[in-house]
This record gives sequence, structure tokens and C-alpha cells, in this order.
Amino acid sequence: LYDAPDFHAPGNDGPEARTIHLGLDLFAPPGTPVHSPLAGVVVSVADNDRPRDYGPTVILRHEPGAAGPGSEPAADAASPHQPGFHTLYGHLDHATLAHLEPGRHIAAGDVIGWLGGADVNGGWPPHLHFQVIALDPLCDDGIEGADPHNFPGVALQRLRTVWESVLPDPSALAGLPPGTVTATGTGDDPFLRKRDLAAKRKTVLGSSLSLSYDDPIHMVRGLGAYLYDNAARRYLDTVNNVPHVGHGNRRVAEAIARQSRLLNTNTRYLHGEIVALAGELLAHFPAPLEVVFLVCSGSEANELALRMARNHTGNDGVVCLEGGYHGNTGGLVEVSQYKFDGPGGRGPSGRVAVAPMPDVYRGRYRRGAGLTDDELARRYAGDVARAARRLDAPRTGPGVAAFIAEPILSCGGQIEPPPGYVDAAFRHIRRAGGVCIADEVQVGFGRVGDAFWGFELQDVVPDIVTLGKPMGNGHPVAAVVTTREIADSFANGMEYFSTFGGNPVSCAAARAVLAEIRDRGLQEHARTVGGALLRGLREITSDHPIVGDVRGRGLFLGIEFVRDRASREPFPEACSYLVNRAREMGVLLSVDGPAHNVIKIKPPLVFGEAEAGLLLETLAAVLNESALVGFVQ
Ligand code: PMP
Repeated sequence: LYDAPDFHAPGNDGPEARTIHLGLDLFAPPGTPVHSPLAGVVVSVADNDRPRDYGPTVILRHEPGAAGPGSEPAADAASPHQPGFHTLYGHLDHATLAHLEPGRHIAAGDVIGWLGGADVNGGWPPHLHFQVIALDPLCDDGIEGADPHNFPGVALQRLRTVWESVLPDPSALAGLPPGTVTATGTGDDPFLRKRDLAAKRKTVLGSSLSLSYDDPIHMVRGLGAYLYDNAARRYLDTVNNVPHVGHGNRRVAEAIARQSRLLNTNTRYLHGEIVALAGELLAHFPAPLEVVFLVCSGSEANELALRMARNHTGNDGVVCLEGGYHGNTGGLVEVSQYKFDGPGGRGPSGRVAVAPMPDVYRGRYRRGAGLTDDELARRYAGDVARAARRLDAPRTGPGVAAFIAEPILSCGGQIEPPPGYVDAAFRHIRRAGGVCIADEVQVGFGRVGDAFWGFELQDVVPDIVTLGKPMGNGHPVAAVVTTREIADSFANGMEYFSTFGGNPVSCAAARAVLAEIRDRGLQEHARTVGGALLRGLREITSDHPIVGDVRGRGLFLGIEFVRDRASREPFPEACSYLVNRAREMGVLLSVDGPAHNVIKIKPPLVFGEAEAGLLLETLAAVLNESALVGFVQ
């Protein structure tokens, strides 16, 4: 459906898409006869022949208490606008049009038409759309543009209650249990279920597991760049970079299902999937990165990377960056300044040294302060060298095992270091005896557009690269890629084993992700859509003094909010206002940065021009509104 060219047709676009289906769909092959469940009179036979419409439809009118199968039709008049109720049958065959005419009396059980194929039914998989209507669908008096023969079969979510009041549940007429179609009358109210869920979640899960928004969203499905909540509200997702090749990606889902049915084991048996995946991954890496280890999460990948670094160098200390986050284990909280200096953190251990964020907007050295990019890179890299020297203190220092950093800092607030920074920092670290780890968990797999990996933007080759999040499109698969030399020194006699790491199902998922990126040109897509979006964001924010900086690469962008462009004082309240208002308007955004004043944009890579347009429109509206409510003096 997402790929259909008219997916974005008016009425089916944006958060106001018609996501409520008003009838019951019964799937059967084309040519299957359709029998009327009740006696009635034909009031409409029409061909609604536009793409994604009904194709041929029939509408019957029935008297209250209309007879069921085997009885005679009621002797009612065929004139329009009689009391009674109606049934609608959509997606029929052309033969139906010649078979019936308005005014014809139908007995219960009579054939009223046949199911149409996709060539005539509006382009759908063959099925019957069956709907009961408790008002007169032909009564269009005074409604401009209304077509009485094309009664809506889908509706906007916000009008759900209205529609439910005039469309009785058709389940019983199709021989299905009541409630198959609508939630009405079953006690299964979507809003009640949400309250229940929130309460139960609190009783059975730890409270350190947070939820987004004060009024959390109960998501029930995803498709492409959109998420749908339990009330069928559609949201544009600019937050989730894990479903890289789209929410609900069919190729990935099918690869997982196929391999799950065949075999799922650990890496102690020979299997083609793991070898194939390692080869396909390595095709994206420069020499000498030529060895792959498969694990289950970004944290597991970074843990393994640190073990390898310590093992290879014989040193213990790690240089990390201010604002960095690398995972949820004890060992990774230790190298994640975002955590150890954040709420509940215990500060730096003796094994880490923190270098300042290479933030040319609000960091120690700033662009526009008379410094060239080369000078900025040299100064920030100098800070890395100083951090390394702190670890190298004679006798007491742990020595430098590694430098761990993201090529573009995500939790730090979408910070792209000045060109040349990473290369200079790597040189300092290698001179101090350490190895260089690039954490590509957020930015890898084509997201940055101009390159497949973030480190390539800085023309460097790390010693160890860690991958995660997008690698399985939501299936837990991650990896460490390193040199033969480091992999060999890690093979010191102690076996390395990860129970789930590299299992054939995970490998099949990751291979499907790589195939989707390649076949759908998603890296190039990230470059062009992301580039246009960045330009659009700069345009719509230029007149808003609360926006200090708009930055990023590909589909990894950030908007930084300030109270005042001169002082650059962070403005987290504006950020939080915007995110909450955008959510109300059906667009999901996230916030990060040490001062919580950066909106991050990192959607699934299938995010297209229409989505970029919708995001810009929403942000522009909310920014104008925020000016009105007094964020700007
Ligand atoms: N590194 C980075 C840069 C991350 O953003 C994250 C997760 N947010 C991790 C590592 C840890 O990955 P995981 O949650 O899969 O363990």
C-alpha cells in the first residue's frame, strides 16, 4: 500500500488521513457471487471507477425487520427516501452493472453481483466491502459535490463517533460474532484500553522505563514513515531511526518469518546466512576493516568493542566525549557522560577522561569567531589529546585503550564535528597507544546520505566500528566490525560466544535491510530528501529568533532553540512546547542535547518529499503559534 503511487492522494494523506474503515471486508476470489443477506430493493447500481475507489457498487434498501434467507421481498415501494436502512456492496465486477437496476426487488439469498478483480475494483486485492447504513445514503440534498452513489467507506479518525452513530455493526449479517467490525458495544473501547494499559504497565514494569509524552500514545501499527495509535490516529514519525527501511517493512518481515520456520540456532553450526551477511556488510567497509562479530544490541556491540580495545592495547582507560551515550550496561554507562553526569549518575570513574563536544555552535570554540574549520578541528582534537594525557599519568594512570565517539553526536544534540576533527583526534589517540571506535549505532547504514557510514564523512578509517539500531529494522541484531589484527589479538584462548548473536533469523533480517537500502536507493534518498528538508527548515525558521541553529546531514537533522540568538541561551521550554503541539497535530518529534533544547529529526529512511512537506508545514504552523503565545518578545 505504501508503495502505491496514490497513497498520498487527497483524503488519504497526512495525519488527517481517512484511517477509519466503515465496513467489513470479506476476501474471496474475483467472480465469487455476492448474495443479499436480506430482502430489499435496489436503490443504486454504479461504477465508482477512479483508482482506489469502489469500482462497481450496489446499495439495497431494507425495511426495518427485513426478512432473512428463504422469505419473500417486502412489498415496499422503490421510490427514493423511504424509511428503513441500507446495505452497501463495493468492489464488484462489471457484470454486476448489467445484472441489476434500481427498483428491482431482491429476495434474501438472491445473487446481487460478483466480486471484481483489481482491474475493475479500484485496484484492490479482490474483496467485498460490506457496510450497513442506518440513514438514507441517497439523500444528498444541498451537499455540494456529494455523489449519492459513492457513500464513504472510510472516514477521518476524528469523526469516528459520528460515523459509528449511523453505521450499525455489519458483523452479524455476515455470520460473524458481533464486534468483529467496530469496537462499539463490546466494551473494547480503545480509550479505555489505553488507560488500562498505562495502569497495568506501572504495576508490572520498572518505573525507570519511561514513556514519551505526559499523555502517552498507545501505538498499534506502523507503515512506512507513519505510526497509528489505538484510535486509528495517524502520526508522521520523525523519531524512530530503528525502522530504517520503513515500519512494517514486508521484505524484512517475510525474511524473518521464512527463516524462523526453517531453522534458528546459534553460531556453533555452519550456516550460510551469517557468512553471507558478514560478506555483504564488509562490502561497505574500507580495508583493513575485514572481520565481523554479530551481537544483539548496540550495547552488546560497544561492550565487545571495549573488551577488544582493552585486550589489544593492554590499557584500561577510555577517552569519550561530553554528551555521549553508548549503551545501557555498567561498562558503557562508565563511558557515557550523558549518563554518568546525568540524573542518578555517579560521575566519571578513574578509567575515563571526557573531552568537550566538538560543537561549533555553542562549544568552547565556535564557528564565526574568527576561527577556520581547520583551526576549530585542531583545537577540539587538542582537547582529545589532553584527555588522553590525563589517562596516561605515570604509574597511576590506566593508559589509553580507546577513544569512543559517534561521527555525528546524537544525544549531544545532532552535533557534526568540524571537518578534520576525527582524523586529528584519531592520530592523538593512536599516538597514545589507543584504538579508535566509531559508534555508528545511530548514524550508520546510509542515514547521513553522503556516505554509507558516518565516519566516511570525516575521511577516516576507525579501528573498530559498532553497528546496531537500524540493522534489523527493529529485529535485535547488531555488529562489531574490526581489523584482522584486533580480531586475532582478541582470540587469546578465551572463547567468544553470544547465544543469540548471529543466529540465522537475525542474519536474514539484516540481509533484507541491506537489500532494501540497495534496491530502493535509500542512501541517495536520504541525501536528496534530507538536503531539501534541511533547506526547508532553514527557510521556515529564519524569521524565528528562537531558532539558533539548524544542522545535520541526510535524514539526521537538528534544530536548536535559544532564548536569544546573541546569547545562545538554551530554550528548552520552546522545544517542549513545539514537540507537544506537533504531536497534537499528528507529527512525532524528539528532543535531545545536554540542555534539552534540540529537536532531533531522524525518521525511517523511506520518509519522502510528501512527508518532508508535511513536517515543514506543521513546524511552520507551530512556530508561528509559539510566536503568538509569547515565546518571542
Ligand atoms: N550507541 C548509541 C550512539 C546509541 O544511541 C545507543 C542507543 N540509543 C546505543 C549505543 C545502545 O544501543 P542499544 O540500546 O541497542 O543497546
